[in-house]
Amino acid sequence: MPPIPPTWLDKVVTRALEGSRFEVRSTPQARNSVFHDQRPACCGSASCIPICPVGAKYDANVHLNRAVTAGATVLPRATAVKLELSPDGKIAAVHFRRWDLTEGIVKAKVFVVACNAIETPRLLLASRSAALPQGVANRSDQVGRNLMDHPVQLSWALTNEPVYPYRGPLSTSGIENLRDGEFRKERSALRIEIGNDGWSWPVGAPVSTAADFAAQGLRGKAMASALAENTSRHIRLASLTEQEPDPENRVSLDADEHDMYGVPLPRIQYRLSDYVTDAMAWARELHTAIFTRLQVTQIQHAPEFFGAGHILGTTRMGASAESSVVDPQLRSHDHPNLFLVGGGVFPTVGTANPTLTIAALSLRAAAEVQRQLRDEA
Ligand code: SF4
Repeated sequence: MPPIPPTWLDKVVTRALEGSRFEVRSTPQARNSVFHDQRPACCGSASCIPICPVGAKYDANVHLNRAVTAGATVLPRATAVKLELSPDGKIAAVHFRRWDLTEGIVKAKVFVVACNAIETPRLLLASRSAALPQGVANRSDQVGRNLMDHPVQLSWALTNEPVYPYRGPLSTSGIENLRDGEFRKERSALRIEIGNDGWSWPVGAPVSTAADFAAQGLRGKAMASALAENTSRHIRLASLTEQEPDPENRVSLDADEHDMYGVPLPRIQYRLSDYVTDAMAWARELHTAIFTRLQVTQIQHAPEFFGAGHILGTTRMGASAESSVVDPQLRSHDHPNLFLVGGGVFPTVGTANPTLTIAALSLRAAAEVQRQLRDEA
């Protein structure tokens, strides 16, 4: 598909940065730019989070619906609580609990766990047994380790001219030429996302802007025109930094707390290294340089990092069963009929949003599952 068209804000930033070290590029997206695959093109309604009302943005329902059409059975409101091992080292069954606490078991030739990088290791660790005291798929002791995100430095400011944010997808362009270089010996790489969502992420605008004006006594037309004048000039930048794998950043099982099904809650240890925090400081300098070119006012930098919500690592991929959890086909090194699909398999994370890579790896795993089922038929 062609790129999502740049917003007016993208064009203003691109023009201001011409001849500088910053190169603005269109961002690849899992969202339709034209009618495709029975789903419409993005119409710019800006509600991508929490949900796209027209289905232009991909979500898991697309393939869930196809699976159901192809004959799959979905068990709604059911939670997998344990993987059961058979004596030959394969997974024999998955035990689940329904919302009303009744229990069920599914037996299969192949199991695919795709619960993202917190719940997947939680399920594997909670499936520990006398035969596998460290949990399922965990001979390497790597399950739950190397939890990563793209720690974010946010900065925002007020432009002189309207740039008309709060419309279109949250971001359509970014600065991508800072993702590699000699500097990575000292600090992590980053990409700079140009936000179409104004000051929404850092301060909850435009609602917070309206609240501020209301507190100043503005009402009626005065409020409406002040809001339009101010919010049309909101600009936000976000540097998403590369976080290196750290075995002590990890998901483990809480020793005391359990969910309603009796499964231990995940316990999360997470910290940023100097390698990352140095990149965040660099990001503030870069954002200031960009804002200076744009001749903005009211520059602010978030004092703390924000999470990107890109939950990655914890079931890392690798060639060696001693130091990784899955092979390049996303198959567990320890259990030949168990596949772990999702962002957990990333051994490192780069700087880009992970969705498209997760999709590509899932297609690779799906082909392998299909081959394995055919061979065993
Ligand atoms: S802007 Fe977001 S929510 Fe609106 S149509 Fe496009 S993808 Fe969907």
